[in-house]
Amino acid sequence: MARVHNFSAGPAVLPESVLLEVQKELVDWQGAGLSVMEMSHRSKEYQSIIDDAMATMKRLIGCGDDFDVVFLGGGASTQFLMLPLNFCPDDKVANYINTGAWSTKALKEATIAGKKMHIAASSKEQDFTCIPKNYNLSENPAYLHITTNNTIRGTEYHQIPEVPSDVPLIADMSSNFLSRPYDFSKFSMIYAGAQKNIGPAGVTVVLIRKDYQKNLLGGIPTMLDYKTHLNKGSMFNTPPTFPIYVVGKVLHWIEDFGGLAEMHKHNVEKAAYLYDVFDNSDFYKGTVVKEDRSFMNIPFRLPTEELEAKFIAEAKANRMNNLKGHRSVGGCRASLYNSLPIESAKALNAFMKEFEAANK
Ligand code: PMP
Repeated sequence: MARVHNFSAGPAVLPESVLLEVQKELVDWQGAGLSVMEMSHRSKEYQSIIDDAMATMKRLIGCGDDFDVVFLGGGASTQFLMLPLNFCPDDKVANYINTGAWSTKALKEATIAGKKMHIAASSKEQDFTCIPKNYNLSENPAYLHITTNNTIRGTEYHQIPEVPSDVPLIADMSSNFLSRPYDFSKFSMIYAGAQKNIGPAGVTVVLIRKDYQKNLLGGIPTMLDYKTHLNKGSMFNTPPTFPIYVVGKVLHWIEDFGGLAEMHKHNVEKAAYLYDVFDNSDFYKGTVVKEDRSFMNIPFRLPTEELEAKFIAEAKANRMNNLKGHRSVGGCRASLYNSLPIESAKALNAFMKEFEAANK
C-alpha cells in the first residue's frame, strides 16, 4: 500500500527506511531471538541500543561530551514542571519568552511549582505572529527559557537570543530539534518530545550541560529529579525502551542524510514549496511575519472557513493527510518535519495551485 503524504504536526511521519528496518527486526532483533519490546532494559543488548542512541545524538549536536543525554517519559509537558523544580531556587526568578501556547504552558508550570516567574518578552499582543526581538530579564534570573519553534503558530527562532554569560539559556526544541544546526553550545539545557522530528511518541530527550548540573537543586521527588536519571544513565526505572530504539535509528538516518546542515537545506527547500504559493497568491495567506516563518510548521488561511474545510477534505481524498490547523487557531497547517519527503511538499504545492484555480 502506498503511503500518504503525512503533514501531521505530531506524532508525525517517520523515514520509511527506518520503519522497514524496524519491521525487519521486530520479531527477532539482530539474531537475539526476541523483539526489542521484549528485552530487559538491563540486558547488554538493550544497553548497546541506548548507548548508541546517546552517542549518535551527541555527534549530531556537535558539542563533544559537554552534554549528558537522558531519555524520559511524560512528554515535553513534564519538562515544563521539571525545569523550574530542578533549576529555579526560591530566591531566583524563572524567566520566559512567551511565543505561543506551549511557552504559555511552560511558564505556568513555574508558577504552579511555587517559583517566582517573569515574562521577559512576549508576542501575545501580536497574536503570536512573530518572535520578540528584545527581552528584559528580571533581577536575579535563574534561567531564560525559549521555545525555538512554535508548533501551533508557525514561528521559529532563526537567531538564538544572546544572553549574559551568567544566565543559563534553556530551550524547548520539541518541534525543530535536529532539523537545523543551531549552536547548541549556547544552551544549558534542551528538551524535545521525540514525536515530531526524531521518532515516535513516548520518549522525551533532555540534554543537560555537564557544567550546568552543579546547579541542580535536589531535594525534590525522585522521579522529577534530573539527578535520578542522570546518575543512572536513564535507567533508574524502565525507560521507554522501544521509542528509544526507534529514535536511535532515526538519528542514524539523519547522520546518513548528511547531518544537520544537509537536513536544514532539505527543510528549507520543502518549506519554499509552500511559502512560494503564499507569496504569489491572494487566495492563501500565511499567518506569521515573513522573517520569523517556521520551516517546520506552516499555518495558512483560505478566504473562508468553508473553503478551508473543502481544501482539507479534497487534500485528504488526494492522499494528503493532516492539514487541519490546530483546534485553538483553526485554518490549515502543514507540518514538514525532517522525514517528510520532498515529493510530499511538491505534491501539496501542485494541489494548492489546482485548488486555487478551481475555487477562486
Ligand atoms: N512543546 C512544543 C513546542 C510542542 O509542540 C509540544 C507538543 N505539540 C509540546 C511541548 C508538548 O509535548 P508533549 O505532548 O510531548 O507533552
